[in-house]
Amino acid sequence: MAKRDYYDVLGVAKNASADDIKKAYRKKALEFHPDRNPDDKGAEEKFKEAAEAYDVLSDGDKKARYDRYGHDGLEGMGMSGFQGMDMEELLRRYGVVFGAYSGGSHRSRFSGRTGSNLRIKIKMTLEEISTGVNKKIKVRKQINCNTCGGSGARDAKSIERCPTCHGMGSINREMNTFLGRTTMSEICPVCHGEGQTITTSCNTCKGEGRAYGEETIEVDIPAGVHEGIQLSLSGRGNVGVKGGPAGDLNISIEEIPHDDLKREGHHVVYELYLNFVDATVGANVEVPAIHGHIRLTIPPGTQSGKVFVLKDKGLPVLQGYGRGDQLVRANVWTPKKLSNEEQRLLEKLREMPNFQAPSGKEAKGYSDRTREVYE
Ligand code: ZN
Ligand code: ZN
Repeated sequence: MAKRDYYDVLGVAKNASADDIKKAYRKKALEFHPDRNPDDKGAEEKFKEAAEAYDVLSDGDKKARYDRYGHDGLEGMGMSGFQGMDMEELLRRYGVVFGAYSGGSHRSRFSGRTGSNLRIKIKMTLEEISTGVNKKIKVRKQINCNTCGGSGARDAKSIERCPTCHGMGSINREMNTFLGRTTMSEICPVCHGEGQTITTSCNTCKGEGRAYGEETIEVDIPAGVHEGIQLSLSGRGNVGVKGGPAGDLNISIEEIPHDDLKREGHHVVYELYLNFVDATVGANVEVPAIHGHIRLTIPPGTQSGKVFVLKDKGLPVLQGYGRGDQLVRANVWTPKKLSNEEQRLLEKLREMPNFQAPSGKEAKGYSDRTREVYE
């Protein structure tokens, strides 16, 4: 986006006096000040734009360059524009037009730094994924120091009201600005806004307020999760310094492969090997399922590739309704070695009419890709 002309931004003529520029800026700054336009991004941009224009036009050197070369003339002077500047910083420097700028919602709060996030892995079986599970996990992490309870002080007497800010966490500073003497509020540099200082540190944690320890965390893992999914428990990570808020505990799910079943989305697949007699005359078989076993009737004349669908015997949909299916895929087993007797029996069958395999066009109808659904 092309930068607007600074004189246009403030709404003044090119030959405006320094006083006119100051007045024009004050008007804009009042109009777009974030205290009057809370959470208004548009107003914030306008405030920044006006502050930037004033920064240039109120400075003899910058103004001269700008008048001669426009925006390009300022680039070499470290003027990269105010749009990317932190509002906090900007208000500290240009927000004083209000005189009694209090900081208000723009004050940073420093009481104790936030702790870091923790990442752990949880391994789950297919059974656990199917039902969802409540797990209690021992996590090694930074916890509040047992001795001082997180304060970092040796005892109650070692905590004193900050003498610099008298416990307020902020100090007022008189400033000379172009509008006269004004008062500005700043975070207390001694206690960093905490309002208290520690005279003698806790011996155990050396004043940090935290130490490594073990915590047992209970997590409810919903049914239907899958490998790689992330769950986040806010505030269960490492605690912050001096009782500061804790970071998050991020849990990534790992699937323990099942011995017999292969997961395909919400479905599970079982490869069933049938001997050639069972496939031919039909059989009653038992197949492994997520929970226990399921009996299944194999009809006579079952070809390799046929899929038996066991409705709703798969995995539940994460945070949704319904379950997937279990798919049982038939594979006809061809023996690899034969005894003399087996050889003799099979040789007898070779010439029988119903044992002739189809060929060519006829064979197409026999490759079985059909599905049999068991509700
Ligand atoms: Zn301690
Ligand atoms: Zn202080």
